[in-house]
Amino acid sequence: MTSTTPAAGRPTVATVYGYPRQGQNRELKKSVEGYWKGRTAADALRDTARELRRTNWRQLADAGITEVPTGDFSYYDHVLDTSVMVGAVPERHRAAVEADPLDGYFAMARGTQDVAPLEMTKWFDTNYHYLVPELGPDTVFTADSTKQVAELTEALRLGHTARPVLVGPVTYLLLAKPAPGVAADFDPLALLDRLLPVYAQVLADLRAAGAEWAQLDEPALVQDRTPAELNATARAYRELGGSTDRPKLLVASYFDRLGEALPVLAKAPVEGLALDFTEAAAGNLDDLAAVGGLPGKRLVAGVVGGRNIWINDYEKSLSTLGTLLGLADRVDVAASCSLLHVPLDATAERDIDPQVRRWLAFARQKTAEVATLARGLARGTDAIAAELAANRADLASRAGSALTHDPAVRARTAAVTDADGRRAQPYARRAAAQRAHLGLPLLPTTTIGSFPQTIELRTARADLRAGRIDTAGYEDRIEAEIREVLAFQEKAGIDVLVHGEPERNDMVQYFAEQLTGYLATQHGWVQSYGTRYVRPPVLAGDISRPDPMTVRWTTYAQSQTSKPVKGMLTGPVTMLAWSFVRDDQPLGDTARQVALALRDEVGDLEAAGTSVIQVDEPALRETLPLRAADHAAYLAWATESFRLTTGGVRPDTQIHTHMCYAEFGDIVAAIEDLDADVISLEAARSHMQVAGELAGAGYPREVGPGVWDIHSPRIPSVAEVTALLRKGLGAIPAERLWVNPDCGLKTRGWPETKASLENLVEAARQVRGET
Ligand code: GLN
Ligand code: ZN
Repeated sequence: MTSTTPAAGRPTVATVYGYPRQGQNRELKKSVEGYWKGRTAADALRDTARELRRTNWRQLADAGITEVPTGDFSYYDHVLDTSVMVGAVPERHRAAVEADPLDGYFAMARGTQDVAPLEMTKWFDTNYHYLVPELGPDTVFTADSTKQVAELTEALRLGHTARPVLVGPVTYLLLAKPAPGVAADFDPLALLDRLLPVYAQVLADLRAAGAEWAQLDEPALVQDRTPAELNATARAYRELGGSTDRPKLLVASYFDRLGEALPVLAKAPVEGLALDFTEAAAGNLDDLAAVGGLPGKRLVAGVVGGRNIWINDYEKSLSTLGTLLGLADRVDVAASCSLLHVPLDATAERDIDPQVRRWLAFARQKTAEVATLARGLARGTDAIAAELAANRADLASRAGSALTHDPAVRARTAAVTDADGRRAQPYARRAAAQRAHLGLPLLPTTTIGSFPQTIELRTARADLRAGRIDTAGYEDRIEAEIREVLAFQEKAGIDVLVHGEPERNDMVQYFAEQLTGYLATQHGWVQSYGTRYVRPPVLAGDISRPDPMTVRWTTYAQSQTSKPVKGMLTGPVTMLAWSFVRDDQPLGDTARQVALALRDEVGDLEAAGTSVIQVDEPALRETLPLRAADHAAYLAWATESFRLTTGGVRPDTQIHTHMCYAEFGDIVAAIEDLDADVISLEAARSHMQVAGELAGAGYPREVGPGVWDIHSPRIPSVAEVTALLRKGLGAIPAERLWVNPDCGLKTRGWPETKASLENLVEAARQVRGET
């Protein structure tokens, strides 16, 4: 490679925007949950938090991070922290917050007996969830910089060079929604002029506390934005930049390219921009050159992927950094986004082959990479010769390994043709064949797959893991559970039965554990929301299925009943969406490998006598790229992989799919493209709106819009369900309408499950009588 000329004069800063919050042993989770249960005192919780921040900064500094972030720590969620910072406490939580700020904070996050929490939703296209600010025309913002100032002061006292990180004002408003009771078309961005003085105050407080720089995160600007939104952005930074009583401002973006927002921010009177230069944001480099770079500004270059768990390609990053040196006055090195989205430490993964472990970079490894690249940029590649050599060797080992390149898998994916993803007959003919084959009544009833995951089931799994019971003992328990689930469904009069998924710990993990090419981690926890952490499996290599994964349980269930038992699989898109994915091949290639493995499972289920097979794709919509221009390419591989999974079955085998959300407007065509026979969706809370949307878009197939909102223990009455069904019939003819809950029942208890399903069956009977 060309050796990089050192950046003259000044050492290059190595930094990150945020770090995993929970601690090595999830101390924060334990402490917060202990506080909720009354076992941990508030002071003890605060001490734990302070200690974790101290450890994190120490870890960062030891790894060579020369400017540490502050304010990124959170007891629950950083967007909620921002709501507190600007005084946007919903009316219903005011009293609690005034009585005790900490308890009020948790009340906003989790609700109380009497008061609903803030709504939670996904943070862009990550699997982190934030609490949605609720705003309205009457919202009054007030500055509360306590948390930001306290955390900055802590870091400075410990001797760190520190930079407070805040959610930017434009992103904050764009993430908000109208408060309950406020007109749905209220645009929170209308509050910008009211919000800016509050941000100005917080920035002034931070300066007074010793901040030289402050970072304002504006990831919402990497989405398609209207001219009005871009104007608001320009106005916001003109005003904040115009103040003299403030730290230098670094406006950060990540997850995608800045696009039209780049020239706006480049012109703004702020001192620095942070941009994502990973594959996900391809385009930023060219766009930056096109606007003439950032003369006079600091550029923080996110070259180490903050969301994946793979080692960086140093040569590639150094070449990007070298190009950037010509485009800004000062170039610093960072991870592309907060490291909140990756686990803490790959060296803790003792069960992963050491060779493979060298390909992994979690937060600690990524900070070291950032530091190494900063050194390379400042002092030239000779200064990091040893690291470069090791990096080259690790990348070569990954590229040449049998795990990442399985000739059999490669040959099979290369041989896939369009015909493999096409059912032998068109939908209308299949529907007739299925009707004859299955003999179902009008308005058939079914469920989405899982039944309550009881303590007994979890205990059985733990007993098996710990060796307290053997496989035979475990399987006996699972079979007993399946018999019970079937007996209830038969008694209730459900038409298409399920085995209840008692053997599954998680709908992705269960399959990942059985597929070759997937890795599991022992300690790879990442925050999903609040104190909930998940351990996503890792798509590390080429995917194949050594043995059937579900056939044993589905056929056992079918052997116990004469009614059809529906087979249950997790679809390829969801398998990718809820895992860490490969970065060394296009997502579509990985999806195709997973699809072929699932296709074998579908084939085996069918051969074993399963006539109805459901392939769940709850992640199909949430995985949509952030920018509309990228949607078509995504939907092409996503739908192709679904069709490849299901396209090989007989015409009279019925393929179901399931998705758990109710916003479909933009992907109806893609849903049609899946070529499934039946789709079940969430619809109870939106009063069957989705049924109308699908019908309005001309969706010609069978639909099961959920008639029971399974997110709460509330039991829907027969009258409620019949009302929803009648509404559904207004959009979808009886021959194509199914009756089912919104989603799986694994989080529900048995009492409400039984009562609700009995009501659901009774409602179907009544409405059948009317048609
Ligand atoms: N079949 C799965 C279940 O019932 C579907 C879960 C989901 O859609 N998230 O649990
Ligand atoms: Zn669902």
